[in-house]
Amino acid sequence: MLSVNPSALSSTLTLTGLHHVTAIAGDPRRNVDFYTRVLGLRLIKRSVNFDDPSTYHLYYGDSVGTPGSVLTFFPWAGIRRGRPGHGQAYATAFSVPAGSLPFWTTRLLAHGVAPATPIDRFGDKVLGFTDPDGLVLELVTTSEPDTRTAHAHPEISAAHGIRGFHSVTLAVTSAAPTAALLTGPMGYRATQSSPGRTRYTVAAAGPGSYIDLLVDSALLRGLAGAGTVHHLAFRTPNDTTQSEARRILSGLGHHVSPVMDRNYFHSIYYREPKGVLFEIATDNPGFTVDEPLATLGTALKLPAHYESQRAKIEAHLPSLTP
Ligand code: ZN
Repeated sequence: MLSVNPSALSSTLTLTGLHHVTAIAGDPRRNVDFYTRVLGLRLIKRSVNFDDPSTYHLYYGDSVGTPGSVLTFFPWAGIRRGRPGHGQAYATAFSVPAGSLPFWTTRLLAHGVAPATPIDRFGDKVLGFTDPDGLVLELVTTSEPDTRTAHAHPEISAAHGIRGFHSVTLAVTSAAPTAALLTGPMGYRATQSSPGRTRYTVAAAGPGSYIDLLVDSALLRGLAGAGTVHHLAFRTPNDTTQSEARRILSGLGHHVSPVMDRNYFHSIYYREPKGVLFEIATDNPGFTVDEPLATLGTALKLPAHYESQRAKIEAHLPSLTP
């Protein structure tokens, strides 16, 4: 007979940082151009929205799609713009090497993007700008070690390239409810604070793990649409740690989705108290599960249940090449 000793069960999720961020975009061709040609990320997967196969799901990241480097989009040509604001993951920040912000300022201006003047935040330099749909992005140079390697790009050297995420800023009307979730079951701890902003990190501290909670009364409520984040995903090592996370969160009264097979990782979803959609995604099986590393992102990959409709799906998707 099975017996469970509650005190023997962990009550903290096993999370190791950020896994991916998923946002909404307009024109898919413009999206590919901006993230690959201008920012130098690799298009690591072209797939479809598993809930709507008439729409692309595009994944960008480092050369292999390491969790913590992956920014994904649902692009819908012609969709109206949203409004970044509170109740959303407001800003997505990438880690870039020290001294690289002048390079990026020049490069962004040359491509028609007007970045803000760099600011100081917790001892780091932060360059803010928006993508062609208005998505709020930041490049952060930090004195902390970051040994991750940028994807090779002919115009962006390793001394400048994007190494993966640095942090995600959640905009909220009050920080306490989200902070309680982060520092309670999710195992995060506050590390730094300034008026309106508190930074949290988890186990393997460092760039790629940070969550900032921002309370800014100048921000309006976020509205979903192009240029806004749909959800952010936290990393968990495997299916066992994910199922444990699901058990803990459900036990605390959170409405957690069943485990979804996203082909490249397995996912559960729940909403944090201020409205931001959270996902917990596994490191396994990764982006080479259905195509070799050398050709990642070059062919349309479909989940098995859509393969029989491939011709119809391909006929309806716009070309991604100019
Ligand atoms: Zn996701």
